[in-house]
This record gives sequence, C-alpha cells and structure tokens, in this order.
Amino acid sequence: MTDIHDKKTRSFNMSRIKGKNTKPEILVRQFLYKNGFRYRLNYKKLPGKPDIVLPKYKTAIFVNGCFWHGHENCKDFVIPKTRTDWWIEKINQTKNRDLSTSTELASLGWKVKIIWECELKSDKREQVLEDLIVFLSKK
Ligand SMILES: [Zn+2]
Repeated sequence: MTDIHDKKTRSFNMSRIKGKNTKPEILVRQFLYKNGFRYRLNYKKLPGKPDIVLPKYKTAIFVNGCFWHGHENCKDFVIPKTRTDWWIEKINQTKNRDLSTSTELASLGWKVKIIWECELKSDKREQVLEDLIVFLSKK
C-alpha cells in the first residue's frame, strides 16, 4: 500500500466519522431537489432525527453507513478483528435503536425509507434513487 492510498483511506474514514453532511446524504438531497421534492434537514421533532424529512409526503429518510448500522450481507460491513465483542455490541445497539426508531415513526404515521451507503455507489445509485421516487409517490 502506498502512502497516497493511505492518505485517501484516512480522509475517507474521517468523512464517515463526522456523521453529518456526509457525501451519500448530499447525493440523495441533490437528487430529491432536482426532482422537485422539498425536504427539511435536522427535523428534530421526529424520533431518531432522520437525515432527510419530507413533511409533505410524511416520509423520513435515513442514509445509513453500512458499517455503523450493521448492514447485513454487505461487504462494507466487516466486524474488526480487534475488540470484536465491543464492536458487535456497539453495532447491535445501533441496530436496535434503528429498529425502535422505525417502529416509533410508523406509529406516528410516517413512512420510513432507509438507504444504505453501498446502494449509492455508482452502479446501483440510479436504480435506488428511482425506487425512492416510486416510494414517495405511493400513498
Ligand atoms: Zn451495505
């Protein structure tokens, strides 16, 4: 591995850790905006602080990192070989929280859409975003 690659990997990881305004989330927002969907950010009234909220469609969108949210059967979700138990517990906590957030939102009459970061990679992105429009258009 070269130094340049190391540097790239590092800044990639850093952008993950910061959490807010990560690139995948921006991608979804730009797409929605371009297609005439208006959304709200940091809509704190809702459980789980969804990444993107479309009040008009009563839809909350979460853009989940595959690692932190434990995307099952995803090659981007690999439990680290050190402190394995700690990671498993941490990620399970996140998954449980995600689940109860979804249930809570649904009970308040909101639709919930989870988009995984791996789904926003260039080969799948178009389909996933098209599906999102279909999802929003459904009553
Ligand atoms: Zn994934």
